[in-house]
Amino acid sequence: MKIDCIFCKIINKEINSDIIFEDEKTIVFKDIYPKAPVHWLIVPKKHIETHMEITEEDQELMGHLHIITQKVAKKNSINNYKLIMNCGYEAGQRVFHIHLHLLSGKILGEV
Ligand code: 5GP
Ligand code: ZN
Repeated sequence: MKIDCIFCKIINKEINSDIIFEDEKTIVFKDIYPKAPVHWLIVPKKHIETHMEITEEDQELMGHLHIITQKVAKKNSINNYKLIMNCGYEAGQRVFHIHLHLLSGKILGEV
């Protein structure tokens, strides 16, 4: 938990979000500014700032993130989608708590 992190606040329910799925290690919620008809964020509850900070210790967690993504997609009959993870400000990252964007349908603008 990082005190000034917006996603940590969402995880701790200090900020409201439209939650699709949650378990002990992960949360999936709708992006507040959707860039596609389906635009969800798949977020590990562990605060990791960027893709570059993932360590060997996080291997299982990263695998879990993908399994959850796939299950949530299947459960909602989303069979065609894009996964994006921005790493670093210049790559478009604005929230420094790693997350996968799941997008389905026509993408409007840059993610
Ligand atoms: P990034 O640019 O870091 O890859 O993606 C951050 C995403 O988080 C953006 O698509 C943005 O719309 C979304 N976002 C930022 N703040 C909030 C928030 O408070 N609630 C929700 N649900 N999404 C947010
Ligand atoms: Zn965080």
